[in-house]
Amino acid sequence: MRIVMVGGGVIALLTAMDCVSAGHDVILLDQGDIPFTGATSFDRNRVIRAQHTDDPDARVAAVRAHYRWIELESLLSTRIYERIGSLTMNATDRIPGARVVGPDELAAYPTVAFPDGATALHESHAGILLADRVLAACAGWLRWHPRAELRPHRRVVAVDADRATVRFADGGELAGDAVLVAIGPWSRDLLDPAIAGELVLRRQSMIYCDVPDPAAWAGVPTIRSLGPTEGAWLVPPIAGAALKLSADSACRVVDEVGDNTTPPHWRDHLIEVFADIVPGVRRDHVIDARDCYYLSRESTKGAMVAALGDRVLSHAACGGTSFKFAPLIARSLAQRLTGADPEPTGIASLDRVVRPSLTRGVS
Ligand SMILES: Cc1cc2nc3c(=O)[nH]c(=O)nc-3n(C[C@H](O)[C@H](O)[C@H](O)COP(=O)(O)OP(=O)(O)OC[C@H]3O[C@@H](n4cnc5c(N)ncnc54)[C@H](O)[C@@H]3O)c2cc1C
Repeated sequence: MRIVMVGGGVIALLTAMDCVSAGHDVILLDQGDIPFTGATSFDRNRVIRAQHTDDPDARVAAVRAHYRWIELESLLSTRIYERIGSLTMNATDRIPGARVVGPDELAAYPTVAFPDGATALHESHAGILLADRVLAACAGWLRWHPRAELRPHRRVVAVDADRATVRFADGGELAGDAVLVAIGPWSRDLLDPAIAGELVLRRQSMIYCDVPDPAAWAGVPTIRSLGPTEGAWLVPPIAGAALKLSADSACRVVDEVGDNTTPPHWRDHLIEVFADIVPGVRRDHVIDARDCYYLSRESTKGAMVAALGDRVLSHAACGGTSFKFAPLIARSLAQRLTGADPEPTGIASLDRVVRPSLTRGVS
């Protein structure tokens, strides 16, 4: 089969790898470079952990994804997964390899000011995926594969779901035996309003800080649910990256995908949020900031897969946690595209493919 993939983020890249490994031909198109620095997937790191309050299926899926990432690391022969562990404040979920730690053990991380009496769930198998390295390694792997062709700077402006064909701004078309549209936060551009109307776009700011004493951060896991509202999170400085800080309060609903520049107001907001959480970090330690976008289905707050036709699938909403699940999502998408029995991801919102009757190829 010849499969056309629109998008060069983690979802399309991993799906393309699965398709060519199964003996199919893939043409992968992106509006920018491959990888594209403006993609949601493009950052120094993304967290993988199994803690999901009230969602045991997602916990199991995260554990499966952990093993898939280890397999991918071996396939790509590149260090992409730092298993530094994760702490989730005030959580008690039952997860293999996780246990609740109290104030005595939290005192081992003096760079973070935990509230008196705080407890946290420590997942020793969790960690961070080196996202930009993942994208570069996947694109490099595909570039050398005889069944894969990467075409950067090819923006798709329409998808004809009946003919499994995509159209470009110059009027040119490209047909496949199957088409995957995995364009992350831009997905609404190529979807029928019947689906697009269900999706909400969010923009989130992050700041990156130099730390005065990097050695003091050695062994610190990624930490979630910090601060009085439990909405703050951090990724410690690791693998050459700076300390990354963000908070749910720096996430807002927006109308469209804009640039990745963080407005000063949101930088200041994050410095304020972290003033009492990471007391050593000051305004002049901020060396970079970045805004990223994700699209989620309003009813589930998560990702969504839609069948636009018999041969056209869309990973229509990327969701705020799809990076870690990407190997599971990709396997399932590749199997659906090639007519194989899809292996469930275990995540209901992804396994229940939306089939809107109104959907047709659109602008
Ligand atoms: C602030 C933030 C923090 C996050 N943290 C985590 C985390 O810790 N763990 C986790 O698992 N997930 C996390 N996520 C979510 C995760 O990063 C995304 O779900 C995932 O990266 C989405 O990948 P994607 O391939 O669907 O989309 P993208 O990476 O955005 O890729 C889409 C690609 O499509 C291309 N494209 C767009 N329109 C067109 C077009 N018309 N024609 C051709 N190409 C087009 C774009 O150029 C882009 O390269 C986070 C998201 C955000 C915003």
